[in-house]
Amino acid sequence: MDEWIQDHMDVARELAESGLCDHCLGRMFGKLGKGMTNDERGRLIREALEDEGIIAPADDFCPLCENVFELLHRFAEAAADKINDVESSNFLIGTRIEPEIAQREKELKEQYNLEFAENLKAELNREIGKIALPMIHRPVEFKNPQVVACVDTRFADVTLDIAPVFIAGRYTKYSREIPQTIWPCRVCHGKGCDHCKGEGKMYPTSVQEIIGDIALEMSGGQEHFFHGMGREDIDACMLGDGRPFVLEISNPRIREIDLDELEKRANDNDMAGYNSLHFVQREAVERYKSAAADKVYRVHVRADSKVNKEAVVNAALSFKDANIDQRTPRRVEHRRADLVRKRKVHWIRADAITDDSFDLELETDSGTYVKEFVSGDDGRSTPSFSERLGVQCKVETLDVLAINYHEPMKG
Ligand SMILES: [Zn+2]
Ligand SMILES: [Zn+2]
Repeated sequence: MDEWIQDHMDVARELAESGLCDHCLGRMFGKLGKGMTNDERGRLIREALEDEGIIAPADDFCPLCENVFELLHRFAEAAADKINDVESSNFLIGTRIEPEIAQREKELKEQYNLEFAENLKAELNREIGKIALPMIHRPVEFKNPQVVACVDTRFADVTLDIAPVFIAGRYTKYSREIPQTIWPCRVCHGKGCDHCKGEGKMYPTSVQEIIGDIALEMSGGQEHFFHGMGREDIDACMLGDGRPFVLEISNPRIREIDLDELEKRANDNDMAGYNSLHFVQREAVERYKSAAADKVYRVHVRADSKVNKEAVVNAALSFKDANIDQRTPRRVEHRRADLVRKRKVHWIRADAITDDSFDLELETDSGTYVKEFVSGDDGRSTPSFSERLGVQCKVETLDVLAINYHEPMKG
């Protein structure tokens, strides 16, 4: 007789006599006696007991698992069917069991102090997975599975949890009339009302929707979410190489969509453009959102009175590597805490100077309020361009020319 059975003869006898099935009996000693399944282990225990003259067969209806193991093949087939319905390069199967069974198992383990027992859930996961594996033709992945089939053993019902797919890229925005992300109607919050003319949103489309709707169609996904590296105002253009973003597609049936095709289709409009699309992991979302990238802007400025060309050029030059203090702007005061932010203007170039207008190109730290830097915002932003020039000025249009962000090297 195996030593580990010998060591636990009394407990094994009581458990066997309680009518447990082979699976459950063996599982109570699951971490002992290597290289066998729990039901093999259970049969081995019963044979050992028989050798001692103890006849303790399993009940027809296992008092612990309620014969759940008779349904393994059904569970495995149902899980494989669901998983085979979606495209992925790996999978995982999990189970949900009757809470009373889990509770019963816990009490049994405590009662007999069975510290080497395995959980029913763990055995079911493994055994269903073993049967399903040849039907699925993909490897099992424990850490970051793309698809998880959850078998609810109470109803032989399988639900799929599909990991979202994340597509990064850069966008440019040429329209001063569309927002970066979908903007639900503030009156009806999306249901549709008179205020939004039944649309449920404030703007007919957005940088997010133009690409997101196409990606959704191509992937058979459920919903799209847009994570931009910051955002510009609706009336600002995003030019140059564009702003980095991550598009998230939930519940995709197809993960490996053709990004060249997506890019081509998404660019078929004159409001926004997309480039450098590539797949990324979920972690990119946080990385993009927390990135503090320097930015280059181009602003068209209107002056309240006549300006002198040389004075404008000199004011621009005076802001080489200049520190500025910005109190929370009046226009966002109601939604942000009022505090003073220290920012840096790296450089400014002035051109297209007329009697009362000019353009500025400037590079600043991330998070600089450029409109307020130019106007001074009634003394809340100092020093300001207006203050230096001695003429009150106002930004009429603002474009973002560059967001200086470089992807970390993979390695
Ligand atoms: Zn059982
Ligand atoms: Zn509405």
